[in-house]
Amino acid sequence: MKSYSVTIEKDEEGYLGRECPECEKYFKIKPGTGVPDFSDCYCPYCRHLGPQDHFWTKQQIEYAQSVAINKVSGDLLDMMKKMEAKPKRNQFISIGISVKGKPTPIAYYSELELEEKIECKNCALQYAIYGAFGYCPDCAEHNSQQIVEGNFGLVLKILDLAKSASPEVNSKLIENGLEDCISAFDGFARERCSEEYPKLSFQNIVVAKEKLDKFGIDIVDGLSGSEWDFVVAQFQKRHLLAHKMGVVDEEYIKKTGCHPAQLGKKVLITEVDVMSLISHLKVIVANLSKHIQRS
Ligand SMILES: [Zn+2]
Ligand SMILES: [Zn+2]
Repeated sequence: MKSYSVTIEKDEEGYLGRECPECEKYFKIKPGTGVPDFSDCYCPYCRHLGPQDHFWTKQQIEYAQSVAINKVSGDLLDMMKKMEAKPKRNQFISIGISVKGKPTPIAYYSELELEEKIECKNCALQYAIYGAFGYCPDCAEHNSQQIVEGNFGLVLKILDLAKSASPEVNSKLIENGLEDCISAFDGFARERCSEEYPKLSFQNIVVAKEKLDKFGIDIVDGLSGSEWDFVVAQFQKRHLLAHKMGVVDEEYIKKTGCHPAQLGKKVLITEVDVMSLISHLKVIVANLSKHIQRS
């Protein structure tokens, strides 16, 4: 059997397409980044581990096969061309052969665009996946903490930009910042707990804390009582923004102990509130990452 080796090119950003042999999902890695000399690969979705050789995509295999067949059929045609013969005169019967045909075509393909591009903070592998959360294909580190911290960083940048905006835009950006960092936290915490505590919701952080307390996980370890009360109050503010146009209702007064004179007024959210919330949420994120392992 003759074998050909075919080069699989990287895309214009330097990523190589990969497909998990187990779950058949697609992702990309940037060769040359990540763990040096690591010849295996983890699937970022299902954590299947196997040699890099098993992660070719169907399109890459089809392409490589078509390149090999193109080469073989081209060589074959050349060989037959050489046997072409013109009819000769003065013979009784003379038959000419002419060879026509083209080598079989090559099945070109291009790599797909993916939603989330990440550089693993553990091993520096650059990879791209569908959705947001996954494992690093080189070191298997789950990226959930990295992603939520990236989102917090983005909120802080927006707060910075908000300073030079008009007062109206400024207060809207601060409100959005509060909502965004709570959504990012909620997404992280749900993902982190999805295997061990699949039904846990973090929309109501007080209930989530109580439930995890029962499993011996203290998510507020490292926060003072007043810092935790502050976090709870910010979650209540987010509830007002999302469902009450930001207007203080009785439930908010009951849950946060704020002055009853605030009833019917717009809740006040400052830049400092959002910044403090982020720093407290980072403590809770670290606690969840520490106590709740993925796979
Ligand atoms: Zn997989
Ligand atoms: Zn990694």
